[in-house]
Amino acid sequence: MDEITRLARPEILAMAASGPGRAVQPERDVPTRLDANENPYPPFPGTVDGLPHNRYPEPQPGHLLDRFAECFGTPRERLLITRGVDEAMDLLVRAFCAAGRDSILVCPPVFGRHAVSARVQSVAIHEVPLRGDAGFELDVDRILDVHRSDPGLKVLFLCTPNDPTGNLVRRADVLRLCSELLGKALVVADQTYVEYSGDAPLSRDIDAHPNLVVLRTLSKEYSLAGEQVGVVVAHPEVVGIVGRIVIPRPLTQSTIATVTAAVTPAGIEYAHANIRRLLKERRRVEDTLGAMPGTRVHPSDANFLLVDVARPQELTQSMRQAGIRILDCSAVPGAGDSVRISIGTYRQNDAMLAVFGAHTAFGGQTATSV
Ligand SMILES: *Cc1c(COP(=O)(O)O)cnc(C)c1O
Repeated sequence: MDEITRLARPEILAMAASGPGRAVQPERDVPTRLDANENPYPPFPGTVDGLPHNRYPEPQPGHLLDRFAECFGTPRERLLITRGVDEAMDLLVRAFCAAGRDSILVCPPVFGRHAVSARVQSVAIHEVPLRGDAGFELDVDRILDVHRSDPGLKVLFLCTPNDPTGNLVRRADVLRLCSELLGKALVVADQTYVEYSGDAPLSRDIDAHPNLVVLRTLSKEYSLAGEQVGVVVAHPEVVGIVGRIVIPRPLTQSTIATVTAAVTPAGIEYAHANIRRLLKERRRVEDTLGAMPGTRVHPSDANFLLVDVARPQELTQSMRQAGIRILDCSAVPGAGDSVRISIGTYRQNDAMLAVFGAHTAFGGQTATSV
């Protein structure tokens, strides 16, 4: 599909579609494997969990692609497994942006490794801030202006729900960008938190918008941050291009086993039940914080809240002294004096609310504030 291939770096298109390495088959039934220089002995202290740790894992495990297709409601040929969203963003920059010539665009305030990926690849970064005066929505017209002034802009990174502001950006805005930039740029939506929003994932719009790429991860919705499993959901043409440069085996044997258990029907139900619990807690925390003097809680579609508060550094320090970590966002451009708080268990949230309450009760009157 020319609208996609013309965006990719020619060097990447010239590479063989399945990389130089030999395809490692998942043939567990081959009794004597002497073709990959693996060590025939299990690692110390023996095979405690029954997994073949001495054998190379399957590059893109077929049974997981089938399960992810079901979890994310998308055909399997649109999926590529990566080492978390971080690797996916890095691969997109490397596959589509030529060093010293092309550029990416981000909409701060936003967290992500975009800047690192872009710098490594010598790719310029355009910034078009979210509209802080309008619920942190996208500034679509300014984004399009930037593209007109720099046709080398190949990848737009959006985040929806956005981190750290918590809001979904308007779907119509994302789709308008896709339409206007078809054949000119990829529109990449990091949807790490979409299941917390109750909104349908953007991946269902890939049919109509082949330049739309959606990034998902098991980190926040399936409680698997410790395993680093990301999934690129995109037109098969994009999957083919990025698939040329993804590391041959992004998942370890241990991760494959852990994830296989977590995405069974029972595992998916467990994850959804936890999401419902966290949403209930989010409402309670939001109401409690909102009632404290001098705070403003931004509406959230994710499992965290961005809260405007006086002296965020001091608050973060008080939390630390109480054994609680929250994120001071005051140094994030466009986030103002604010903190980002993840929703925890009922008890964890209560402990956090107690420290927060003490901070705001003495707000403006303590010696440290003047
Ligand atoms: C937490 C988070 C991720 C998760 O990335 P992984 O590498 O898959 O763990 C991605 N994007 C944003 C905006 C996040 O907040």
